[in-house]
Amino acid sequence: MTTEPTRHSTPPVELPLRWEREPDPAGACPDCAELVAARSRARARGDRSAVSDCNVLLRRHRQGHR
Ligand SMILES: [Zn+2]
Repeated sequence: MTTEPTRHSTPPVELPLRWEREPDPAGACPDCAELVAARSRARARGDRSAVSDCNVLLRRHRQGHR
């Protein structure tokens, strides 16, 4: 590793604002509903990392439905 300064003329690019398709709650599952509600609250306060956490949890949880 060298400490030579990089010559990139552009700053590091943030992840594009391209939302993946978000998982939907399944049927009347209260756990799904809770995760979706938490996701809505997180988005309402601009907490994108929490929104993403909820999506991960929701996806993972949904796999348990089958
Ligand atoms: Zn569920």
